[in-house]
Amino acid sequence: TLPRLPVLEAVATHDPASTAVVHSLSGRSFTYGELLGDVGRAMDRIRHARGGADLDGERVAFLVENSYDYVVTLLAIMAARSIAVPLSPAFPVPELQYILNQSEASVLVSSAKFGAKAKQVLESDLTASPSHLELSKHLGGQGKKEDISWDDAGPGNAGMMLYTSGTTNRPKGVLLPQSVLAAQSKSLIEAWEYSPKDRLLHVLPLHHIHGTVNAILTPLLAGSSIEFMFPFNADAVWSRLAAPFLPTNGTSSPAQAKPKITFFTVVPTVYSRLLATHKLLPPEMQTAARTAVSPEHMRLSISGSAALPTPIKASWRSLSHGSVLLERYGMTEVGMALSCGLHPSDRVDASVGWPLPSVQARLVDVDTGDVIQPGEGDVDPVTGRERSGEIQLRGPTIFKEYWRNPTATAAEFVSDPDGKGSWFKTGDVAVRRPVESAAFAQSWTKGPLYFILGRKSADIIKTGGEKVSALEVERELLSLPEVSEAAVVAVPSGNWGQKVGAVLILNSEVATTWSPMDMRRALKGRLANYKIPQVMKLVDHIPRNAMGKINKKQLVKSIFKDEHS
Ligand code: ATP
Ligand code: MG
Repeated sequence: TLPRLPVLEAVATHDPASTAVVHSLSGRSFTYGELLGDVGRAMDRIRHARGGADLDGERVAFLVENSYDYVVTLLAIMAARSIAVPLSPAFPVPELQYILNQSEASVLVSSAKFGAKAKQVLESDLTASPSHLELSKHLGGQGKKEDISWDDAGPGNAGMMLYTSGTTNRPKGVLLPQSVLAAQSKSLIEAWEYSPKDRLLHVLPLHHIHGTVNAILTPLLAGSSIEFMFPFNADAVWSRLAAPFLPTNGTSSPAQAKPKITFFTVVPTVYSRLLATHKLLPPEMQTAARTAVSPEHMRLSISGSAALPTPIKASWRSLSHGSVLLERYGMTEVGMALSCGLHPSDRVDASVGWPLPSVQARLVDVDTGDVIQPGEGDVDPVTGRERSGEIQLRGPTIFKEYWRNPTATAAEFVSDPDGKGSWFKTGDVAVRRPVESAAFAQSWTKGPLYFILGRKSADIIKTGGEKVSALEVERELLSLPEVSEAAVVAVPSGNWGQKVGAVLILNSEVATTWSPMDMRRALKGRLANYKIPQVMKLVDHIPRNAMGKINKKQLVKSIFKDEHS
C-alpha cells in the first residue's frame, strides 16, 4: 500500500502503458504502470532494511546512478514517508560522510554499481550509523500497477532534502516537504506547460533542485517521458537529438526510430559546449541537429542555475533556426522563483522574467531595508538611477527550514507585519525594468521584468561609492570576441574600498597579445567608466563546482593575493 503523495497519485492516473523513463544509450524503457509497481516493491525493501520500523520523517540517503532505479528509489523513500537525501556519485568520500552525518541518515541505499563506494563510506569514521541496502542489479521493470493499493494515513513527513551547491559556504541541508515539492511542480506545469507529449532529455546531476524537481518530479507529475543520458557528453547529446531527423537510407524501420526530444533544461555551460561541438559534426548531422533544436520540434529549451551569457543565447538562436532560450532563476531553498515566459518575446535578453505562479516576490533595498515598490519605485526620483534590492520570496513553494540549523533559518527569514507569512531572503540582488517589447502572453508574465545583478555577498562590488554588478560586467566581457570565459570579482583596495577585477580566459588567437589596455578600450562605450575592470588577470582555468558555479571569494584569494592599492 502506498500513501497518497501527489506525485504517486499522479503517476497512478497517467496511462499505464505510456513511457515514464528511458535509458537513452541502451534504449531500455519503463512505463508508468511498471513505475508504480516497482515503487511499491522498493518501498517494502527499504522498510525491511530497518526491520520494518516506522520510517516516518527519517532521512534515507541514496547513491544511485542517473537511471530508472534512481527514480524508483526516490519515490520509494518518500512512499515510506521518509526524507530522501540524494547523494552525488561524483562526491569524494569526505563529502558523502559530511552529508550522511549532517542529515543523520538511518539508511543508505546504493545501486549495485555504487555498492563498493557505499561500503567505503560506511566503513569510514561516521557519527551516523545507517543500515545499508544494496539494490540488485536491475530493480526495475517487474512491478505492476495492479499490485498497488492506497492507504489514507497521509504523507506524514515524506519529502526530500537537498544540499545547496556550496558555492559560498559548506552546503546546507534544505528540507523540502511534500507540500512544497508539489507546489513547485504545479507552478512549473502551469508556467511551462509540461504534458504527456513532452519527452525530456536529462543530462543533469541528480542531487540538485534543477535535476530533481524540474527534470524528474515535475515531468512525472505531468505524465511526460524522461530520457536519461549521463554524464553529459556534447557529441552524444547531438547524435541523440539529431537521430530522428537524419535522412533514412531505407534500412531502418519507422518503428525503431527514436522519438524526438521536445524539452531540454540545462545550465549555460551545456549550451556553450553544444555550440562549440556543433561545428565539428559531420555535415549531415549538423543539419539534422539544427532541425532537432528548432522551435518547430524542440518545444522548450531552458537555461538556469547561473546567468546565461547573451552571446550564448544569440548563437543558439541562429544555430537553431530561431529558438530563444528561456532563462529562469531559482535556488535550492525556493525551487524556481522567476522565469521568462513561453512566448518568445517574453524571453527578454539578460532578464529572468517574472515571479512564477504562486510565488510572491519583492525587492528590498539592501542599505535602507525599504521595500521597493514595483514601477515608479524602481527608479530613484532624486538621482534618476535604478534602485536595486535583495530578492525576497514567499508562498507555498518556499522551504521552511535548514536541517538542524535554526540559526541560519532564523537569519534568512524576515517577518511581515501584514501577517501573510515571512519572506525568505535569497541573498541575490536584482533590479526591475519595464520592457515594452515583451508579449505578456501568460497570466503571470506581466509588469516589470527582473534582472539579476548577482549575489549580495560576492557579486555586488562597491567601488568609490558606486555599486557595480559583477554579472553585468561579465555579460559585456563575454560579448567580446577575445574573451572565452570571465569571472568578475571584488578586489580589496585601500583607495577604492573595492576594485572591479576581471579573471579571464582568452581565445587562443589573442591569448598572448591582449592587454588590460585592450580590454578597457573594448569596454569603453559599453559600460560606464567606473564599471570597467581596473585589474585583469589571465588564467587557463577558472574553477567551478558541479553546477558550473564559481566560488568568487576563493577565486579572489587565490588570484589577487598580492593586490594592495
Ligand atoms: P550555497 O548556497 O551553498 O553557497 P548556491 O547558492 O550556489 O550554493 P544553489 O541553491 O544551487 O546553491 O544555487 C542558487 C543560486 O544560483 C542563486 O542564489 C543564484 O545566485 C544562482 N542562480 C540561479 N539561477 C540563476 C540565474 N538565472 N542567473 C543568475 N544566477 C542564478
Ligand atoms: Mg545559496
